[in-house]
Amino acid sequence: MIGLYDATRDDIAAVLDGQPAFRVRQVWDGLYRRGVAPSDLTDLPLAMRSHLGEMLPPALRPVTESISDGGDTAKWLWELHDGARVETVLMHYDDRSTVCVSTQAGCAMACSFCATGQAGFERQLSVGEIVEQVILARRAAAPRRVSNIVFMGMGEPLANYDNTWGAIERLHGDMGISARHLTVSTVGVVPGIRRLATEALPVNLAVSLHLADDARRDDLVPINRRYPLAVLADACHEYLEAKGRRLSFEWALIDGVNDTALDAEQLADYARPLRAHVNLIPLNPTPGYAVRGSAPAQVRWFRDRLRALGTNATVRQNRGTDIDAACGQLRAGHEATAVASPRRRRSIDHTSA
Ligand code: SAH
Repeated sequence: MIGLYDATRDDIAAVLDGQPAFRVRQVWDGLYRRGVAPSDLTDLPLAMRSHLGEMLPPALRPVTESISDGGDTAKWLWELHDGARVETVLMHYDDRSTVCVSTQAGCAMACSFCATGQAGFERQLSVGEIVEQVILARRAAAPRRVSNIVFMGMGEPLANYDNTWGAIERLHGDMGISARHLTVSTVGVVPGIRRLATEALPVNLAVSLHLADDARRDDLVPINRRYPLAVLADACHEYLEAKGRRLSFEWALIDGVNDTALDAEQLADYARPLRAHVNLIPLNPTPGYAVRGSAPAQVRWFRDRLRALGTNATVRQNRGTDIDAACGQLRAGHEATAVASPRRRRSIDHTSA
């Protein structure tokens, strides 16, 4: 059975067998532009709505919903048809609301400080499984409007290129989210960056750098052994030339590992020719990595040092650390999450759904 958001227009036409073409348009518009569930497609006869809902079920079953930051951050744990689990985070800010989506169940990139990487790779998500995360988060955000989507949840988007791009086209073309509000984050999968540079839509690119020194980055971010920093910089240049979008680097500040004067210099040297903006993220705790995040004073010092060296840098506002929703903490219900702040987590009662 196909999931609702993996169904093409033809699949929907087949389900609505014998109905005039405008019905397919109505359904498509309702599902994507308005983002309503099949049962709320009120311009359709009731029988048609329930037939649609039965034939094309949702792919994401909610397991838990966790709330933090006084309601400004929400995290959902979803179970997929085969039991795989992924998470999605919704963040409200004064000026925008952002959804952080997963593109894979687990991740094969094995960055030692990231909870998703520590848990290993399970499988790719389909286009529909990615898009549905946005649809459901958008529904939960109402009446606030979701303006930004970041591909910064579980997984490496460029290691699931086709489905990530399929989702981007759906978000842009069918849901009306503009390309400059879509950000793809990669650990540095160079062939994916090159391919991204050939696409018509100019989405934002973020690269998880964390070290600007090959010998040490090889250890922290193993993909660096395949695509070292010079090769990565070339691909970033290509992207900039093709798209003219601002490039950003993510840098999780780890105490004594990448927060020294030397690190600031190496990073500034690397970022300057690319005119990249640096997003500093004080390292969030994860079960499999003993080293701590840099202290707040060190974070400020590092930011100021980068600025003095001519590189734009800001500290990313930390969200949802207490519900394991912050950068690098997503691990979809693996043991360590199951014991974290149970008071803030609410199980979803399926019997009433
Ligand atoms: N695989 C992609 C998408 C994930 S984005 C990528 O690596 O870019 C998640 C971001 O959080 C990445 O920048 C990642 O490096 C960062 N991150 C991972 N673990 C972290 C941690 N413990 N603390 C802070 N940031 C972390």
